[in-house]
Amino acid sequence: MKPAVFAYHAPASVEEALDLLRELGDDAKVLAGGQSLVPMLSMRLSVFPHLIDVGNLGELDGIRIDEERVTVGAITCDSLVERDAGVADAAPLLSRVTPYIGHLAIRNRGTLGGSIAHADPAGEYPAAALALDAEMVVRSAGSQRRVGASEFFTGLWSTALNPEELLVEVDFPRWKGRSGFAVAEHARRHGDFAIAGAVVGVTLDADDRIVRAGIGLFGMASTPLRASTAEADVIGRTYTDCDSEQIGHLSVEGLDDVVADTSGSAQYRRQVGAAMVARAWSEAVNEASNA
Ligand SMILES: Cc1cc2nc3c(=O)[nH]c(=O)nc-3n(C[C@H](O)[C@H](O)[C@H](O)COP(=O)(O)OP(=O)(O)OC[C@H]3O[C@@H](n4cnc5c(N)ncnc54)[C@H](O)[C@@H]3O)c2cc1C
Repeated sequence: MKPAVFAYHAPASVEEALDLLRELGDDAKVLAGGQSLVPMLSMRLSVFPHLIDVGNLGELDGIRIDEERVTVGAITCDSLVERDAGVADAAPLLSRVTPYIGHLAIRNRGTLGGSIAHADPAGEYPAAALALDAEMVVRSAGSQRRVGASEFFTGLWSTALNPEELLVEVDFPRWKGRSGFAVAEHARRHGDFAIAGAVVGVTLDADDRIVRAGIGLFGMASTPLRASTAEADVIGRTYTDCDSEQIGHLSVEGLDDVVADTSGSAQYRRQVGAAMVARAWSEAVNEASNA
């Protein structure tokens, strides 16, 4: 199939893009790498009379790193995030999740901002943003606001972005001290969306007590999730007192929105999700304890 007819806009600046978004409202959709939007248009799952292509706006491209944060411009392509040595050092989880996103050709076109704005519940970046306490920087004509990851993902492929808003960058705080990070996911083939997956960040103090934990789940429900109960349970305990399988079970306990589809029942997903948390937890704690 081919997409329905649309008008293509290629603004020369962010300001121009924001003016277009204000003027066109619900009739317009932002186009970044097109790796999710174009297939949806081609299959006519979505129809928009206007596309605003932000893919050439240099202001939205690139990575800045300072003492406190890693800031990724919205149109920075996944493969740049994957290869950037500064990101590997300052936000290792970002580097580690990226190779799980589709295949290299997709990561060369797909953007970090597009993935976050698309909010696929099986996407790796949304879960990593949740676990790391990222903040989204969002602009509309004449205003800017910051939205924490925990408020950003509001439903299936839905976010806190309003139609006239553009995601301009994402701030990932740097986790200091003895920290470790890991991702584990189960998919039928490498490059497929995960059936269930988990990302973990953990920080230990000098006495091996857990002072910070972020556990993100993806592929499990209609949104990416944060396993807040499991996180709260481990804070203040020494890592040797924490059983990874128990943390896995606690992370999926009480989830009432677990997906059941041709890849597996809800019960199967819960089991796989728990196993992925346990695996990622062990790896992250191992890294933190050796830091
Ligand atoms: C075969 C295949 C396999 C894939 N596998 C995976 C996978 O395993 N894991 C995974 O996470 N993803 C996967 N993807 C999706 C891929 O990561 C997409 O690139 C990503 O989800 C969207 O990024 P994009 O830049 O292509 O955005 P687009 O497709 O251009 O846009 C996606 C959505 O985000 C909105 N948007 C984009 N940028 C902005 C912005 N700056 N401000 C506001 N709204 C914006 C668009 O309006 C649209 O609604 C796969 C894609 C394909 C085709």
